[in-house]
Amino acid sequence: MGYSAPRGTVDILPGQSEKWIKLEQLLRTIAANYNVKEMRTPIFEHAELFNRAVGDTSDVVSKEMYTFQDKKGRYISLRPEGTSGIARAYVENKMYGLPEKLQKVYYMGPMFRYERPQNGRQRQFHQFGVEMLGVESPYVDVECMLMAVTVVEALGLQNVTLHINSLGDDASRDAYREALKDHFRDHLDELCGDCKARFEKNPLRILDCKVDAKHPAMKTAPKTIDYLSESAKNHFDKVCSLLDDLEIDYVIDTNLVRGLDYYSHTVFEIISDDPKLGAGATVGGGGRYNGLIEEIGGPATPGVGFAFGMERLLLALDNEEDEDEDGLDCYIMPLGEEAKDLAMQIIAMLRANGFTCEMDHVSRGLKGQFKSADRFNAHFSIILGEEEVKNEVVNIKCNHDKEQVVVPLENILAHIENHLSGGHEHE
Ligand SMILES: [Zn+2]
Ligand SMILES: [Zn+2]
Repeated sequence: MGYSAPRGTVDILPGQSEKWIKLEQLLRTIAANYNVKEMRTPIFEHAELFNRAVGDTSDVVSKEMYTFQDKKGRYISLRPEGTSGIARAYVENKMYGLPEKLQKVYYMGPMFRYERPQNGRQRQFHQFGVEMLGVESPYVDVECMLMAVTVVEALGLQNVTLHINSLGDDASRDAYREALKDHFRDHLDELCGDCKARFEKNPLRILDCKVDAKHPAMKTAPKTIDYLSESAKNHFDKVCSLLDDLEIDYVIDTNLVRGLDYYSHTVFEIISDDPKLGAGATVGGGGRYNGLIEEIGGPATPGVGFAFGMERLLLALDNEEDEDEDGLDCYIMPLGEEAKDLAMQIIAMLRANGFTCEMDHVSRGLKGQFKSADRFNAHFSIILGEEEVKNEVVNIKCNHDKEQVVVPLENILAHIENHLSGGHEHE
């Protein structure tokens, strides 16, 4: 008997959580560097928000959402992605009225999709995402892409390429949609049931179909880039020339069509051939979504953003070694009950002075306690035997240079600080 974690969830245990913290700190540092502020929205939202914002023809909404009725009968969904909640909060909090027209925010946290779990893909997974709202400008598109590239570079991923494409504006998309329908009309019988529905509602989604990915008509489908309006083409040309100026490697990938209804203009993905991820792995992607804020009831507001799966980013961090980094400063080793009382005093004093400490709580002998000091990679062992308690001293051992000194209780702090500053710099 006993309980197990629900299918598609994992526990992040001590030993792994340090890696998550490291990744999170790296992402926060880059965000600060780009003047992007954190925004925290609820883990669950009204289901209707996602139907609207992500679109109910998407697999994410139609097949993968965790939706349930609460006790008042409201339809609630666990968030399957981060942009919808940010957009909802942006409108609800009237952030479009703030004096800074460009609002740049990031989120990170768990997302939920009911999918078949496979390696690297869980039902509860984590995303880091950035949204830049309020300004339509190719410069903002490029800032967004640049930040995504910075993240990937900071993780040390090799062989990274930025793939970009343009879906154009409304006029371009209307023209393209018609061209797609003309193209697929003759093949409709050969496509899956979902695609037949997509044909009328959102033919762009046909290009995303996993079932029909190998159908020959996919390869010969018209390309968005050939249907751009004059102004959409100017926007895209400017994006490309800015990337050129910044010497960012990119390829124009006309197959890159993000099926979400609200994308327009620039879309991008970051692909890496780093052996840690496997050949041609998509690390993350994003794009411009000028229609979204209006779609959910806000004023017409341009936006551009990207999201990364954090589990994937973590793989990039995996091979890095920094074992020594999180060792303890002091491990307190009381021998006997009386010594434990005193150890409690000492540990409280040391922690109050900013040292990371642990003590033995299971009344072991010296040997066992030294093993713990070793496992915790403690700089100092502070030994408190009966003799030391009686004489009001402790025995402080530096586990690096093995120097061992008897120190009066009132001098513990001074001794440690002196040791650390006074030429005792250890590896
Ligand atoms: Zn299909
Ligand atoms: Zn030392």
